[in-house]
Amino acid sequence: MTCKLCKEREADKKNTHYLTDSIIRSCLNEDGVNVREKGYMFEVSNSTPFIDFNFQRETSQNSILEALGREPTEEEIANAKQIAYSVDYVFCNTCEGIFTEIEEQFNQTILPKLRGNDLTGTSELSFPEKIIIRKFFLLQVWRTSVCDPTFNIPQALQDELREIVFDKNISDQRVTAIPLNVTYLNTLGDDFEYTKNLVGIGIVEGNYVIFFNDFTIQAFENEASIKYIDIYGINAKDTFNHFTNRNEENFIIKVIGNVERIEVSNAYFHQEKVVKVLNFYRQTFQSQCLASFGQMPSERLTATFINGIIYGKDCTDATRYTADRFLKYSYAFFDRLYNYR
Ligand SMILES: [Zn+2]
Repeated sequence: MTCKLCKEREADKKNTHYLTDSIIRSCLNEDGVNVREKGYMFEVSNSTPFIDFNFQRETSQNSILEALGREPTEEEIANAKQIAYSVDYVFCNTCEGIFTEIEEQFNQTILPKLRGNDLTGTSELSFPEKIIIRKFFLLQVWRTSVCDPTFNIPQALQDELREIVFDKNISDQRVTAIPLNVTYLNTLGDDFEYTKNLVGIGIVEGNYVIFFNDFTIQAFENEASIKYIDIYGINAKDTFNHFTNRNEENFIIKVIGNVERIEVSNAYFHQEKVVKVLNFYRQTFQSQCLASFGQMPSERLTATFINGIIYGKDCTDATRYTADRFLKYSYAFFDRLYNYR
């Protein structure tokens, strides 16, 4: 395959992170074990409410055994070998050097002004280094669009972003023409705090959104496609236009304080996981009762069923919300109902 950046050389580079590793690593760190995520990566697909178990390559064998209560399957091992947000043979080694240069400039000049600082009381920061900032964040958007088929951005935007990354002599005017909104979620405390942040991608009504640990990136194709949407409290209607940089003199980064940052994560988990999953349990239980007993279960019985899923001691925390455990739990529950009648 030909490298997607230079479109000339053979794509010979393995393990290219399309979301910069130094930014996302602390969020996905096994050491900063999170009560909610247990340091593993869970993915909730839109089609099923089940949380698939997916352990990182660095996760130690013992902690896998402990969490799973069994040896990992071949499939899980294969998944684990895929490093988070990285790809093989999409870019060439020379172009990896271009990525590194953009990333290092940002890491050296901008990141120290954000990470590790208590920004309580600050609602925005203004930077004259707009090109360094833009190239870094637009690089994330472009690489993700190239590497992840679900992050499907318009071809014209993708082509323009490629030029911005590749052409060192591109005009500032072209770099600043892309509407770009960057929010910094001020993360105070130790590494554990970073595991409460989010890493992921999404397209919401034409907003191309990347949750990037303590940053959120939103890019738009052009001025006409800028649209306010609420993303777990990250955007505010009255300031959205102000924080959407385009043709700017200084790049403005919105700052969300440490307390509000946690509210953002909680809003995400509640909306994307909890609500969806609870509705699924409720509906499945009700339709199964209808099919088995010819009547809808009482609210109280439904609540008992759901509580058992959430608090039951028949599984480990890592397997609690998997399809496998749900089936076993449900069979056992209905078994008891049959015998009781
Ligand atoms: Zn290349």
